[in-house]
Amino acid sequence: MIVGGGHAAAQLCVSLRQAQWPGRITLVCDEPSVPYHRPPLSKSQLNPGADSSLQLIRPTDFYAKQQVGLRLAQTVRSIDRERRTVDVGQTKLSYDTLVLATGSLNRRPPITGIELPGVFSLRTAADAEALRAQVQNAQHVAVIGAGFIGLEVASALRKIGCNVTVLEMANRVLSRVTSPAVSTYFESLHREHGVALRTGVSISMIQEKEGQLTLLEGDHSLVCRADLIVLGAGARPNDDLARLANLEVNNGILVDEANRTCDPAIYAMGDCCNQFRPLYQTRLRLESVQNATDQAKIIAAAICGLPLPAETLPWFWSDQYDVKLQIAGVSAGYDQCVLRGVAEPGSSFSAWYLNQGRLIAVDAINDPRAYVVASKLILRSARPSLQILADQDRDLKELLLSGTKTYED
Ligand SMILES: Cc1cc2nc3c(=O)[nH]c(=O)nc-3n(C[C@H](O)[C@H](O)[C@H](O)COP(=O)(O)OP(=O)(O)OC[C@H]3O[C@@H](n4cnc5c(N)ncnc54)[C@H](O)[C@@H]3O)c2cc1C
Repeated sequence: MIVGGGHAAAQLCVSLRQAQWPGRITLVCDEPSVPYHRPPLSKSQLNPGADSSLQLIRPTDFYAKQQVGLRLAQTVRSIDRERRTVDVGQTKLSYDTLVLATGSLNRRPPITGIELPGVFSLRTAADAEALRAQVQNAQHVAVIGAGFIGLEVASALRKIGCNVTVLEMANRVLSRVTSPAVSTYFESLHREHGVALRTGVSISMIQEKEGQLTLLEGDHSLVCRADLIVLGAGARPNDDLARLANLEVNNGILVDEANRTCDPAIYAMGDCCNQFRPLYQTRLRLESVQNATDQAKIIAAAICGLPLPAETLPWFWSDQYDVKLQIAGVSAGYDQCVLRGVAEPGSSFSAWYLNQGRLIAVDAINDPRAYVVASKLILRSARPSLQILADQDRDLKELLLSGTKTYED
């Protein structure tokens, strides 16, 4: 029994059948669609002129062919661990093995007026559809929060001609995920594309008058006016079901290397779980498609009694305007950042993050080569030469050839 119907859930159906799992699979999801790709929701799907159909992870008939029982538009309300049942409102469904894949929930900042019509969040296809229908008539859109989703929305809406203001509480954009140099680059990029960007501004109130929304700061001074507002204030793990069922939860559902919770009959995967990662020697809760699909493969192997796949490197991407950001690894805790190339709009460059000389992450901006080389080096726990890193005339391949300590060492 899989609770949730996103990237992790779809991959688990695929991987279980690929591993010849003969048993029944039931997927319960509160959304009405079969699993679809979520990343386009903040990118191409916001364009009213573009094809609005969802990009399905697997075609609808895949589930029938693979004998996956779909229970769409149904919410699991609670888990009875003793009886091994889940409550879906009218009925109780029994399970032998339960897999929680409930994803994340958008954070709702404490802003008076956040419930007003005209204030949108973005997580599901329904959210994207509602926003897309409104942007056609909007002259001016305000985006609260300059994380990936906020900045991707800003980029998508500038492309269709909206005036966009981005308001960020921290003193720089993407502050939770990248270095000041990369933040400065993205700030310049958005300003060059005509976004009015303000950092260090905390919205406390939204007021509405005759369809116009007014955004106010802490002392109730006017920040800007907008026809509609998009919230991009981050997400939290959707671990409420697990908490209610007394599973161990701490910033996500705690799982072991096989993604098993403290109850051996229950697994958790994707955005909703938090796992110890040997490569980083710490617990991580990641919000990415790659993490969701890789954890589904681990669970399929565990359920089928197969060897667990080797640990993989976390990676992420973001598309804004004509810029592709690829991130290999996790930069949290870095003590040194080396820039390769010039961080200015129009250029390709990369930012290499090290901890005590060991490479832990790379942000590659329009630079797939840096991303590929870095991915290999991080998995080897390499300590690359800083001179080669910083010198664009030196081939990055030199780093792969030079003797570096491996992860297994
Ligand atoms: C707008 C947007 C853009 C993104 N862009 C990128 C990107 O460019 N690159 C990237 O790597 N990642 C991106 N992400 C993140 C990525 O989509 C997530 O990390 C990924 O979807 C996580 O997969 P998941 O299966 O864990 O959860 P989800 O895909 O979120 O699926 C969880 C599902 O469970 C359902 N559910 C929750 N509770 C219940 C319940 N009690 N009963 C039944 N069903 C329930 C939810 O409604 C949802 O359908 C983006 C996310 C969003 C919202």
